[in-house]
Amino acid sequence: MSDALPPLRDVVARHGLSAKKSLGQNFLFDLNLTGRIARAAGPLDEATILEIGPGPGGLTRALLAHGAKKVIAVERDERCLAALEEIAEVFPGRLEIFPGDALALDYPAFMAARGASSPIRICANLPYNIGTQLLTGWLTLESWPPFYDRLVLMFQREVAERIVATPRQRADYGRLGVLANWRCETRILFDVPPSAFTPPPKVTSSVVELRPRAQPLDCRTTALEAVTLAAFGQRRKMLRQSLKSLPGVGDPSALLETAGIEPTRRAEEIEVAGFCALARAYAGG
Ligand code: SAM
Repeated sequence: MSDALPPLRDVVARHGLSAKKSLGQNFLFDLNLTGRIARAAGPLDEATILEIGPGPGGLTRALLAHGAKKVIAVERDERCLAALEEIAEVFPGRLEIFPGDALALDYPAFMAARGASSPIRICANLPYNIGTQLLTGWLTLESWPPFYDRLVLMFQREVAERIVATPRQRADYGRLGVLANWRCETRILFDVPPSAFTPPPKVTSSVVELRPRAQPLDCRTTALEAVTLAAFGQRRKMLRQSLKSLPGVGDPSALLETAGIEPTRRAEEIEVAGFCALARAYAGG
């Protein structure tokens, strides 16, 4: 689906938007691809979309052209703002541009202050250098279910695999997988080759979907983060050894017994439910 705007390559040239590596800038110009990502976040007509890092606006345009009721876009690079204003003019009242650092936001408050109405979705081709940090923030919100009903996000393939990993895929399974699958149902939607970006990154990317679980297993976020940090910090060691590094825990035997986990198991063998049991035991101890 196209719009009344000039081709993105022309926009980038006219505004002098040479990609900056320090800002994780790898732009998408292919309308088929931006359309495919936008459709993955659909249906869009009732939705408010939070987009992080719109850059020159390729995905932003696709989201709007595919009918998003509203897009709220957070961009740190001031050079992109004029190009984004041009998009806002073509879609009156539907694009709100927020110049600033996506890492500095309190998202529930930010969206509430903008009067964003449900359903709210986050859709973004994330800057790779801060993608995991942003995702972790959205997964560890105090209040759950969260303010969003879905995340549709592009990551490096290697990070995408860590997000969807289970104990049976041991090399990729770690803290991010536990956190993501505790609170969300996760899946990789499709891969995007380096050649789709300007400039091309070194590695393949993947679009990942995360849908919040209505009722994740009971446990405190801080306790889950602490037990996974200790357990995966020494992932090859048995839990009776690795969990000794948990603050306030000398001998983890009682903790493991309460959680019903064999002390000789290793972090990479424990399901999300096992980590939640450990977190409950740790928080209660
Ligand atoms: N959405 C565009 C696309 O798909 O072509 C650009 C994606 S590019 C991978 C990442 C974007 O995030 C860049 O526009 C970059 O300037 C922006 N960005 C980087 N760090 C940021 C931050 N801390 N806060 C907000 N935006 C940031």
